[in-house]
Amino acid sequence: MKKLEQIYEGKAKRVYATDDPQIVIVDYKDDATAFNGLKKGTITGKGVVNNKVSNHFFRLLGSKGIPTHFVEQLSERETAVKRVEILPIEVIVRNRAAGSFSKRMGVAEGTELSSVILEYSYKNDALGDPFINSYYIRALNLATDAEMEQVKNYSLRINDILREYLWNLGIELIDFKLEFGRCDGKVILADEISPDTCRFWDRATGKKLDKDRFRQDLGEVEEAYREIIRRLMGE
Ligand code: UDP
Repeated sequence: MKKLEQIYEGKAKRVYATDDPQIVIVDYKDDATAFNGLKKGTITGKGVVNNKVSNHFFRLLGSKGIPTHFVEQLSERETAVKRVEILPIEVIVRNRAAGSFSKRMGVAEGTELSSVILEYSYKNDALGDPFINSYYIRALNLATDAEMEQVKNYSLRINDILREYLWNLGIELIDFKLEFGRCDGKVILADEISPDTCRFWDRATGKKLDKDRFRQDLGEVEEAYREIIRRLMGE
């Protein structure tokens, strides 16, 4: 597979075309942003960690029957993935109160939730990814009802799989964000699952092992990313 021209550059990744029209290459950067791009920085080695961690989770989910865009890791920072049409919807799954949920609802960070929460936002940086619901999605034709039924079922199943897997590694999965894409008329998991897109708390100490260390200037940011790769892959 040959890497061709760059077709997209996002905040944390570049995407390249290949000589196969069905496949693109994702290249993970060390650039970090938070608060809708207001805070910018670099987390050295983050791209390598996110590439490996995301591929590790996508392989795990694939083995449990979740269809994903993952094809093949090409290098420390590069992965071949299926070309999809990304649904303009960010799915957030919450197991414990944190982040924007705590702020919006006035519920202290760390508060247990009586049941899992699924929420959607419209993937649009200029608008600050506004909160939406299934009526917005239907009214604006962002996805069909059948697609959203799959998005919901996959998201809850992914939560069950990742929560149990991480728990056994001494990590509590507090919340995370997913993106899905259309590929050959089907909905598949796309984008990434990494310390950039999840909240991971050490089960024993409560220490944050994710991008909140960067967002909140907690220090030991690189160490936290490395700790996640160590727990998952023993590296
Ligand atoms: N998240 C993300 N990208 C976004 C917004 C949120 O990956 O654009 C992740 C975030 O890392 C966290 C979860 O989704 O694990 C819930 O984030 P929240 O809505 O609490 O927003 P935040 O506090 O990150 O602004």
